[in-house]
Amino acid sequence: MRYLILADIHSNVEAFRAVLEDAEGGEGYHHLWCLGDIVGYGPDPEECVQLLRSLDPVCVAGNHDWAAVGKLDVSQFNADAAAAASWTAQQLSPESKTYLSGLPLSPQEGDFTLVHGSPRDPIWEYVISTPIARLCFAEFQTLYCLVGHSHIPHFYEHRPQTGDCFLRAMPKGEPLMLGDTRLIINPGSVGQPRDGNPAASYLIYDSEARSLRHYRALYDVKATQQKMRRHGLPYRLIERLGFGW
Ligand code: ZN
Repeated sequence: MRYLILADIHSNVEAFRAVLEDAEGGEGYHHLWCLGDIVGYGPDPEECVQLLRSLDPVCVAGNHDWAAVGKLDVSQFNADAAAAASWTAQQLSPESKTYLSGLPLSPQEGDFTLVHGSPRDPIWEYVISTPIARLCFAEFQTLYCLVGHSHIPHFYEHRPQTGDCFLRAMPKGEPLMLGDTRLIINPGSVGQPRDGNPAASYLIYDSEARSLRHYRALYDVKATQQKMRRHGLPYRLIERLGFGW
């Protein structure tokens, strides 16, 4: 079986469609796992929720999903994110809000635990340093944990003998082979990449080959930016898509 692993779609339906087409035209996939933040920031929240639901995914809740349905106070967001969250809440249908409200926090799927932030704090914590990753390895039971939230594709390796952790970049052009080493893995973001590459980021997990492959899908960034301008979304959120930060 192959699993398409996505995170942080952020209401960017152009990027989301580009990833689906890229994955279908490449290895193909049978199941979809989504690591939260379907909405927030971008111009097409309702379209993204509907498209995601049509693919019958296993999907967890992100902080932006909770903000859009009133489960989290937007005063905890920066001004741009709060403005986008308030706008997003007005665009979502009651049905989509019910779906976002009911998303689980940390389901287990085979060898994987799925969360948005971290296994310690699935909504808010960023796993963006080895000291935090080290603490997080004690907080999930499976071999591997998939996280989103930072929008940066990378992974952490755990050494059980010493408790040490190592930060690794995703291998380019070759798969990451999965073994007994416990890992925390971030596929990067579909709709708002922050690693200096504006192309949408995703992973394919092949459960027979025990491998993860990292891909980037180019999409029409300008089309997304134009829609954001039309909706009066914050300038910084529009500009950053062109740079991937
Ligand atoms: Zn996010």
